[in-house]
Amino acid sequence: QDLLAERMGRLGTESAFEVLARARALEAQGRSIIHLEIGEPDFDTPPHIVEAAIEALRGGDTHYTPAAGLPELRAAIAEEVSRTRGIPVEPDRVVVTPGGKPIMFFTILALAEEGAEVIYPDPGFPIYESVIRFAGATPVPLPLREELGFAFDPDELRRLVTKRTRLVIVNSPHNPTGAVIGREVLEELARLAQEYGFIVLSDEIYRRIVYDVEAPSIASLPGMAERTVILDGFSKTYAMTGWRLGYGVAPRWLAEHLVRLAVNCHSCVPGFTQRAGLAALRGPQDAVDRMVAEFRRRRDAVVAGLNSLPGVRCAVPAGAFYVFPNVTETGRSASELARELLEQAGVAVLAGTAFGRYGEGYLRLSFANSLENLLEAIERMRRYLG
Ligand code: PLP
Repeated sequence: QDLLAERMGRLGTESAFEVLARARALEAQGRSIIHLEIGEPDFDTPPHIVEAAIEALRGGDTHYTPAAGLPELRAAIAEEVSRTRGIPVEPDRVVVTPGGKPIMFFTILALAEEGAEVIYPDPGFPIYESVIRFAGATPVPLPLREELGFAFDPDELRRLVTKRTRLVIVNSPHNPTGAVIGREVLEELARLAQEYGFIVLSDEIYRRIVYDVEAPSIASLPGMAERTVILDGFSKTYAMTGWRLGYGVAPRWLAEHLVRLAVNCHSCVPGFTQRAGLAALRGPQDAVDRMVAEFRRRRDAVVAGLNSLPGVRCAVPAGAFYVFPNVTETGRSASELARELLEQAGVAVLAGTAFGRYGEGYLRLSFANSLENLLEAIERMRRYLG
């Protein structure tokens, strides 16, 4: 224990995995648990993507690839990001990684250090704060406000920015609230980035999972392509969480350092996985559309169901596959309610506080589960709260 490096005390984790472990332990005792704590699509990876990987394996694609990714995949990603964000992207700015998560880790490690400040969304993906602390920098939470549709107040952001601000993290569509940040708010952020000279890490992993709206990328705004690291990937869009395939698009000067971190860490993503990614980008997209249509059906049912429960108020998320109901009027704290729902009602959810202190008073439910299970979960919650 006393051999452990001091920095390990600053590294956090994702409590979703702990809740999942507790839920599994209850199941092992014979209890029925509905899993709404998990952040991954419950669909299979489309077959043509699986076939591409099998073919690559059979063809002997079992060796190292360049650390930044296969040239064909980097080119396809550059093309996709150019087209969808409306900016020119050269393949040498693309870094392919095992999931999008390493882009988070590497970008923060490359830019943040002692004395530097990093602003991140709260509630937000818990890994942001964890890695900022690990890097020795000062984490500065940016509150997201329910009354603003879970966006941040640009004036509040302005008050948090200092000359020590190195990086600002945004995530849209957002985990855990499902909010999509509008263009005007991004424009304010872009103005500040240019005034103070910080970089924006734009986590766009849920970009394709939106309902009736598009999620604008800050990288599309004038002057921002050189100041933005886009994080995106295949996990959520193509139901490929277990494949571990994601990417970053960074300014050229930074991309080479992200690649150096990759060399020091994992060397490369398996070639057959990258071939699957190529098939995902180049192949038919109808599976994505079907998945989003199904998510929308569930979203509407879950929001209606939650709003019919005593003490619960739930906004309609514009993206991702999470709802973030306000439960303050149940009279219980978020963590108390999450624990009781799991232990007593058999519904596994996350407390909003798993995403930061501004998550108090909320729960996060994932609707990446069947409609039948979702409706049963609502009824279990009704019986419990009733
Ligand atoms: N960013 C956000 C906001 C997420 O919720 C997740 C996964 O849960 C990721 C990034 C990382 O996804 P992956 O590493 O599977 O690409």
